[in-house]
Amino acid sequence: MLKGYVDEVFVSVQGEGPLVGTPMLFVRFGGCVAACEHCDTPRARTRASQFVIRGPKAEVVPNPVKVADLTARVEPLLRNLPYFAVTGGEPLEQPGFLSLLLTRLSETGKRVLLETRGQHYRELAEVLPRVDVIAVDVKLPSFSGKPLPREETKNFLEIAKQRTCYVKVVVGPDTEEAEVLEAARLVADVRGRIPFVVQPRRDESTPPPGESERLLALAVRLTDTLDDVRLIPQVHRALGLR
Ligand code: SF4
Repeated sequence: MLKGYVDEVFVSVQGEGPLVGTPMLFVRFGGCVAACEHCDTPRARTRASQFVIRGPKAEVVPNPVKVADLTARVEPLLRNLPYFAVTGGEPLEQPGFLSLLLTRLSETGKRVLLETRGQHYRELAEVLPRVDVIAVDVKLPSFSGKPLPREETKNFLEIAKQRTCYVKVVVGPDTEEAEVLEAARLVADVRGRIPFVVQPRRDESTPPPGESERLLALAVRLTDTLDDVRLIPQVHRALGLR
């Protein structure tokens, strides 16, 4: 029986990108090898020995968990929610577990949102038939501390554009315009109508003077390259939600 590592399960609203405000059930996978300098989910980078299901009665569950045990616990929480979101960590680092989980949950008829850093394109191809929407969080060098993974990201987007797909980049005061433009050109090269979301970095909840105006100017500049550019902060944080 296939098992996997989960970090937490919870109900919240989607706080990022075009689906902002939509209530959904999140399964956050445990484990990510990327080690971004500005990681906003550092706990989920490791495969912990247990995870929490944050329902009306919080439940602690040992890892690794069987797909059947996980689905039995999350199905009652899904109720009338329109979406089931898998996030991380990096869900595509556990493709077998993810694929089986999505297969089982497809019987609920919920739409599936996959949130990923968008590099594991072979694994994406495996799970694509069971995914409805793909949120690709392209990690800029100022966020990750590493060069933009151009080839992996491009290959990933070529596959992802077969579904509803959008790209997000997190931008802080130290982010150079050139790295955002490089990511935008990469998306433009794929030639899908892929929305491109600029998201202010979370640790800048009180932006330095002039930062919001800089981000607006950046978003306007990006419209020279892309059809669908949006500047959207994290809404769940503003609501005090997970
Ligand atoms: S890809 Fe996501 S979870 Fe992994 S280190 Fe980067 S920000 Fe953290």
